[in-house]
Amino acid sequence: MYDNDISNVVEADRAHVWHHLTQHKPYETSDPRIMVEGKGIRIWDQAGREYLDGVSGGVWTVNVGYGRESIADAVRDQLVKLNYFAGSAGSIPGALFAKRLIEKMPGLSRVYYNNSGSEANEKAFKMVRQIAHKRYGGKKHKILFRERDYHGTTIACLSAGGQPERNAQYGPFTPGFVEVPHCLQYRAHEQGLENAANYGELAANAIEEVILREGPDTIGALCLEPVTAGGGVIAPPEGYWPRVQEICRKYDILLHIDEVVCGLGRTGTWFGYQNYGIEPDMVTMAKGVASGYAAIACLVTTEKVFDMFKDDSTDPLNYFRDISTFGGCTAGPAAALENIRIIEDEGLLDNTLAMGARLMMRLEELKEKHKVVGDVRGKGLFCGAELVADRLTKEPVAEKLAQQVVAECSAQGVLIGVTNRSLPGRNNTLCLSPALIATEDNIDEIAA
Ligand code: PLP
Repeated sequence: MYDNDISNVVEADRAHVWHHLTQHKPYETSDPRIMVEGKGIRIWDQAGREYLDGVSGGVWTVNVGYGRESIADAVRDQLVKLNYFAGSAGSIPGALFAKRLIEKMPGLSRVYYNNSGSEANEKAFKMVRQIAHKRYGGKKHKILFRERDYHGTTIACLSAGGQPERNAQYGPFTPGFVEVPHCLQYRAHEQGLENAANYGELAANAIEEVILREGPDTIGALCLEPVTAGGGVIAPPEGYWPRVQEICRKYDILLHIDEVVCGLGRTGTWFGYQNYGIEPDMVTMAKGVASGYAAIACLVTTEKVFDMFKDDSTDPLNYFRDISTFGGCTAGPAAALENIRIIEDEGLLDNTLAMGARLMMRLEELKEKHKVVGDVRGKGLFCGAELVADRLTKEPVAEKLAQQVVAECSAQGVLIGVTNRSLPGRNNTLCLSPALIATEDNIDEIAA
């Protein structure tokens, strides 16, 4: 089908491909890495080197593992039947996947299809803005986001981005996005709260302070990751979420949960928010929805939100005036239908809980043994180990050291990740998130 001579592939890549998140200078003298094949939890590069993939496709995506023929078959069958029609019409897999998804999300009822996590979040922001215009004369338009959270790569998503290392040099940003403080208890000292017994509640109260400062009648939505991913693998502390929900209800603020990483099983529940009894108004998801077998993202809302876009059919502007061309591709929902079946039939949520507990146990052991491991944390198969130069002051390790750990693991055949790298001091949490099919041996191999 294509040129399989790998040296031609490497040269074509070196000459013409611009890799994501990559400084290309080193490739002038060394080969770029090209991934060639995957099976289960293992993946092989162009030199035939085998890796245990400890980050599910690099970015928490391949939840059900590589080489799933049943997903490939489902996609192929759908493509030859009907590959595409614009999303203004429905499709068979689109309707069936929406039904399956909603069965897992009590309280929510509508699925809006698009292609990436960033796009799904953009759509949610647009909905908030349109609701503000229709109901509140445009006033209740601000969107709150949290320090350390990430919601995507577009300018609006970066405007809602709490990671300075992602945002540097891409401004000016879009007005109307306002940051609230992080809830990482290990770094509570940055907020003067290191001794607080009720840190979770106080971290949530800090959101209320921002709302009161800005004016509750100007805030349309609060957008949060259920467990923060690239910002340091942060599962919010006890007491945080109930208070957040209470605050949103008190001020009539829509709660938008960004499940782009957690969605479809990563934390051992279908969705990250379900660990905390939250009742969101909007949920976005992408990576694990079809485990990377096809591009698909979903924005899911309550019927109440949906109704605001149809309750006045005499108003020519009263519908969601938005389209995503490739949101009409049928490969996405066809793959997602098979993906969700696999997670259910193979009991992958239970496996995630069991293997996540084992990974945390192994990380605790590493922390006992190595002073450089300052904190270990996680939820399900979504774990992190924060590296520090000094346990007492919690000073982060030098960027190079965290990079070295990742490179050394790779040299030993295990792929792991590290949080964002561009600014010093923030690049120090190792990310460990294997596919939900991981076995005890896989977990032990990663830790070793
Ligand atoms: N939201 C979160 C929490 C993410 O981690 C990411 C990507 O890493 C995104 C949104 C953006 O998703 P995408 O890269 O599919 O646009």
